[in-house]
Amino acid sequence: MKMNFIDLQAQYKKYKDEIDTQIHQVLDTSSYILGPKVAELEKNLAEFTGVKHAIACSSGTDALLLALMALDVKPGDEVITSPFTFIATAEMIAFVGAVPVFVDIEDKTYNIDPAKIEEKITSKTKAIMPVSIFGQTPDMDAINAIGKKHNIPVIEDGAQSFGALYKGKRSCGMSEIGCTSFFPAKPLGCYGDGGAIFTNCDELNAKMRILLNHGQTERYVHSHVGINGRLDAVQAGVLNVKLKYYNEEIEVRQAVAKRYAEGLKNVVVPFVEKDNVSVWAQYCIRVNDRDAMIKKCSDAGVPTAVYYPIPLHLQKVFAYLGHKEGDFPVTETVSKDIMALPMSAFLKEDEQKFVIETVNS
Ligand SMILES: *Cc1c(COP(=O)(O)O)cnc(C)c1O
Repeated sequence: MKMNFIDLQAQYKKYKDEIDTQIHQVLDTSSYILGPKVAELEKNLAEFTGVKHAIACSSGTDALLLALMALDVKPGDEVITSPFTFIATAEMIAFVGAVPVFVDIEDKTYNIDPAKIEEKITSKTKAIMPVSIFGQTPDMDAINAIGKKHNIPVIEDGAQSFGALYKGKRSCGMSEIGCTSFFPAKPLGCYGDGGAIFTNCDELNAKMRILLNHGQTERYVHSHVGINGRLDAVQAGVLNVKLKYYNEEIEVRQAVAKRYAEGLKNVVVPFVEKDNVSVWAQYCIRVNDRDAMIKKCSDAGVPTAVYYPIPLHLQKVFAYLGHKEGDFPVTETVSKDIMALPMSAFLKEDEQKFVIETVNS
């Protein structure tokens, strides 16, 4: 059997006519950056999430950076986050000169453990940046309550969870700022790099729009040191098409996840809190002998991946923080036995059956 980890070609084929039309409209009008397609995307994103302001930008990484810049996070400040995430989360905290302060994760959801956040708050804490790992948001009510109590804004890194629900509310819309990514392999992906920032605050919205365009308030008038964080119109066109079908895809992802949970034996399958809907950015299982399981899958033609083999506190880039093995035991245990199976709305039933049989054998 030959299958893809994520079948992006099958998705493109399904929406090809509409996507091609969108791309050709950009080529025919030469409006390549920002412009009407990006404005339309922002309107659609705001409607989808129920957030007042949706700001399209160049990537999930830049979304995080712009959020930190908008909150004036500076050298010497501290930002609380999870050590079990993609590098970009802590990388952008460090990039603005702040210190990533890690808090261990929950054993069941792999999201930051809200019960361990407060003990890490100091007078230097400028933000709390929880990550919605693998497509499920953390306990945002608990985290927002801590933020409110200490007057610290919360930035949700929703790069993996766009479309997910927490108590009926959409990911990216529950705290001061929400950030997401439209990297091609994310649940909602474009055909290059892309991202978005969400906020209900008018001031933050205005500031982030200025920051993502070189701190420009009017043409060649600059009030802030900003970045080039703009989205291009081709990506916006692709996303406008895919967003129309995204709720259907989220439904199909639930069915795929359900078949896995029912079919897989002798492995730990993902846990979703009862008030949550995950968008299944990854379908991660935990196994006793990961190397052997990966080899068995690979020999059978089942692609797998490991998110994430090295926790951020043990990465060389963060050696200066002085962490050691044992500092975040849950993260370290999960990093050693977790692995991801093929997951997308386009995974065929016979392919999935084969994955399940391979893992169970
Ligand atoms: C993918 C990802 C990012 C970065 O998004 P890009 O669009 O690739 O820059 C940030 N945080 C998390 C948790 C991610 O998974």
